[in-house]
Amino acid sequence: MDLSEPQVIRQHLIDPEICIRCNTCEATCPVGAITHDSRNYVVDADKCNLCMACVPPCPTGSIDNWRDMPRQLAYSPEVQLTWDSLPAELSPEQLAAAGGGAPAAEPVPTPQAISAPEGERFNSAQFGATVPPWSAAHAYTNLYGPKAAEKFVTATVVGNVRVTEAGRDYDTHHVVLDFGQMPFPVLEGQSIGILPPGVDAQGRPHHARQYSIASPRNGERPGYNNLSLTIKRVLQDPQGQAVRGVASNYMCDLQVGDKVQVIGPFGASFLMPNHPRSNIVMICTGTGSAPMRAMTEWRRRLRQSGKFEGGKLMLFFGARTPEELPYFGPLQNLPKDFIDTNFAFSRQPQSPKTYVQDLIRQRAADLAPLLADPNTFFYVCGLKSMEEGVVLALRDVAQQAGLSWDTLGPALRQGGRLHLETY
Ligand SMILES: Cc1cc2nc3c(=O)[nH]c(=O)nc-3n(C[C@H](O)[C@H](O)[C@H](O)COP(=O)(O)OP(=O)(O)OC[C@H]3O[C@@H](n4cnc5c(N)ncnc54)[C@H](O)[C@@H]3O)c2cc1C
Ligand code: SF4
Ligand code: SF4
Repeated sequence: MDLSEPQVIRQHLIDPEICIRCNTCEATCPVGAITHDSRNYVVDADKCNLCMACVPPCPTGSIDNWRDMPRQLAYSPEVQLTWDSLPAELSPEQLAAAGGGAPAAEPVPTPQAISAPEGERFNSAQFGATVPPWSAAHAYTNLYGPKAAEKFVTATVVGNVRVTEAGRDYDTHHVVLDFGQMPFPVLEGQSIGILPPGVDAQGRPHHARQYSIASPRNGERPGYNNLSLTIKRVLQDPQGQAVRGVASNYMCDLQVGDKVQVIGPFGASFLMPNHPRSNIVMICTGTGSAPMRAMTEWRRRLRQSGKFEGGKLMLFFGARTPEELPYFGPLQNLPKDFIDTNFAFSRQPQSPKTYVQDLIRQRAADLAPLLADPNTFFYVCGLKSMEEGVVLALRDVAQQAGLSWDTLGPALRQGGRLHLETY
């Protein structure tokens, strides 16, 4: 055996149940590690160098799947092409029995190796759960899309309002879609795909863009077959160059009565716990507030019913200024004994820059017991750049309280207790 080769690899896989076969990842991969047939998109473990270039552009998140595998047993592209769903993760015992043993020369990244070596990118897959909380409700996925009988469902716009201050360069809309008689069951934390009309520069139909659902499972309006989205109009690329995002501008400009093609729902792990006294810690920036609004509103409705004893809700919400923060007003009106809300503003005149991770550290005394409590579930959603800082802050909170991150980090991930969804 070549001892310079690790015995256990982190194998990159695509979830065939969620993938919408949009080809974005294959087009993005710089080393040609992704291929497909008429059925599945797959990753060749012998070619993939874990560069992560394909992960942010994937509209469904189906690309963001990882398994610790003994190198000699890594799933081949041929095997992956036959899958209808992802295989379960191997337990440490199964890994050892399969001959994986401990990593040899090059260790498999683990949550305690939290700061990526210089030049290497932070890999959220090391920390984020791929399983839902044990008490989550069953999520329906891919009811509409390439693998479903119906290729899309047509929804009607029944509302479109701006939820950030008017007259500024950021513009975020709350868009309500009604599905009429078509079944579209969703859970808080799931997302849908929007098919924008028209074609791209190569003349191909635009691929779907993914948006988190901002309303609870029983509808934006309770009992109605509708849902809401929180959509930021993209007018600049991450480098600050002027662009006009196809789907976000299409959605923000919709009028009541317009029809929209929708696929999905997507997502089977970023789901809220359903059991009484379960605690939820929500950490978000910008439109990452959408799933947090959905979860908060569902817990608020349950509380109103008087038939459910919810646990603690904590929200850490970051934006440059209050004016940029979607739902700022309504959030402030929620009762203090219902939700513990913490705002972080990074561009407030006359105030020091504050990020969500700063607030996490400030609230260490309250967060440490929640980290230790298996009934607490953590959700992170928003800008890709927030992930590393938030995970580092949670690690610091744990360690300062005498909790072993070596134990807690994997437990959070494997127990479906730490969910990361950034874009
Ligand atoms: C799981 C998931 C959930 C999402 N949920 C939401 C949500 O709730 N609300 C929401 O508004 N968006 C959400 N997004 C992002 C959304 O899917 C689109 O990527 C985004 O709206 C841009 O699409 P576009 O068609 O307008 O831009 P495109 O036409 O695809 O891109 C145009 C240019 O803008 C750049 N760009 C793309 N996205 C952004 C961005 N967010 N900020 C700055 N520049 C960008 C691109 O690099 C490109 O140069 C989510 C993405 C994922 C993966
Ligand atoms: S992680 Fe990088 S090398 Fe691997 S499939 Fe994605 S883009 Fe290709
Ligand atoms: S949905 Fe994601 S994994 Fe599937 S083809 Fe598109 S980019 Fe690739």
